[in-house]
Amino acid sequence: MHLTNRVLVTGGAGFIGSHLCEALLETGAEVLCLDNFFTGARSNVAHLLSHPRFELMRHDVTMPLFVEIDQIYNMACPASPVHYQYDPVQTTKTSVHGAINMLGLAKRTGARILQASTSEVYGDPDVHPQQEDYWGNVNPIGPRSCYDEGKRCAETLFFDYYRQHQLDIKVARIFNTYGPRMHPNDGRVVSNFIVQALQGEDITLYGDGQQTRSFCYVDDLVKGLMSLMNSPEGVTGPINLGNPGEFTIKELAEQVIELTGSISKLTHKPLPQDDPRKRRPDITRAREQLNWGPSVALNEGLVKTIAYFDELLKTT
Ligand code: NAD
Ligand code: UDP
Repeated sequence: MHLTNRVLVTGGAGFIGSHLCEALLETGAEVLCLDNFFTGARSNVAHLLSHPRFELMRHDVTMPLFVEIDQIYNMACPASPVHYQYDPVQTTKTSVHGAINMLGLAKRTGARILQASTSEVYGDPDVHPQQEDYWGNVNPIGPRSCYDEGKRCAETLFFDYYRQHQLDIKVARIFNTYGPRMHPNDGRVVSNFIVQALQGEDITLYGDGQQTRSFCYVDDLVKGLMSLMNSPEGVTGPINLGNPGEFTIKELAEQVIELTGSISKLTHKPLPQDDPRKRRPDITRAREQLNWGPSVALNEGLVKTIAYFDELLKTT
């Protein structure tokens, strides 16, 4: 017999996963953090290791897992283009085999299961802002496809397990998220720009810098994930989670320079293939069904993230 909520977080030693583990422990849950440490690190959860309700397990989601559990957050998957393109076959396996294994676990245990999907399922969108009923514009054979199509197939599996086996599923489409514990070398725009600015190096704008993104602070995102997980049965999503504030990449660079007081200059590099031109979530569904919306403005979140990287660069 168990009294606490036993929660599995796959990819729990990653950027978002580690914040999620922390927040779950605060709710009184028992947290099983599972990771293969491809892009995550023990150091991200080192402060949780002595917690009596926290357990860290090295495991790859492409392999079956046998544990007893009440809720599953399936976060395991490299998220930055540099990392997911490093071993694209493994990226697809992580999304697809990982989803099959975790859905199988949910089926056996009766656990509720949430999938960390992504705005990348919309590809380079023709519809703006992106609503959940938009099917997307995705290249199936390009360098981003291992991630985009892997995540799309994971969504398919979630909805087939829902229809065929009546699983209690939740699908979150996460938009660009940033904050402390982002990997300093993962090539993502927020971490790149902050590290470059703090080191006085040129800020690398890919293309003309006029492409847009919407940036969500990690604490807001974690609250959204937990609201979705604890929403009534039948609220399956897919549901967009992100901050609808939309900025060009050049505007982001300028904000980072201003907030760090850096002497860095802007420089241009080639735009990567299939780089989406614009991205902004329509979060009406999240507001209506979860009563959730972000509360941290970009400049406020950047200040906290800059402080994190400043400390990290001093100690490494
Ligand atoms: P991250 O790379 O920091 O975290 C992913 C974690 O999964 C890492 O700890 C990694 O070691 C682990 N992992 C990778 N493959 C695994 C495997 N086969 N088995 C077990 N563990 C494995 O990335 P993140 O930004 O924290 O992203 C977390 C999740 O959210 C991912 O599924 C990602 O696709 C999704 N997401 C993130 C963003 C974002 O902006 N950060 C946007 C959309 C979706
Ligand atoms: N980008 C950039 N300079 C960098 C890193 C990224 O101009 O040093 C651009 C990138 O081309 C994209 C945007 O910033 O248009 C967001 O890139 P990121 O890799 O963070 O995420 P994603 O493309 O997956 O949204």
